[in-house]
Amino acid sequence: MNIKMERFKIDLTEIEGEGDFPCPHCGEIISPDDDSGMVYDIIESTEADGELEKVTIKCKKCGSAIQLEGFSLFKEIGNSEKIFDIEDYLNLQEKFMSF
Ligand SMILES: [Zn+2]
Repeated sequence: MNIKMERFKIDLTEIEGEGDFPCPHCGEIISPDDDSGMVYDIIESTEADGELEKVTIKCKKCGSAIQLEGFSLFKEIGNSEKIFDIEDYLNLQEKFMSF
């Protein structure tokens, strides 16, 4: 038994827009702001020194696991005193829109 799960890596510093991106496998647009639970599931988030380092999500359409990195990009968004965490990521588009 050797089932290999599709696993992709996305560096948020390399994508354009407000944190949304197409699933590397099926092309479904995954938006961090979409909390309907219909498009993706958060499998795990990893923090380092209290700051968000990696988030692994699962595309609900094709089942691919996608690891997101590059959150340091967002540190300067909003209140720099505050640590960027998973909640901030999920609210990212709101923050962009309020600029
Ligand atoms: Zn997909």
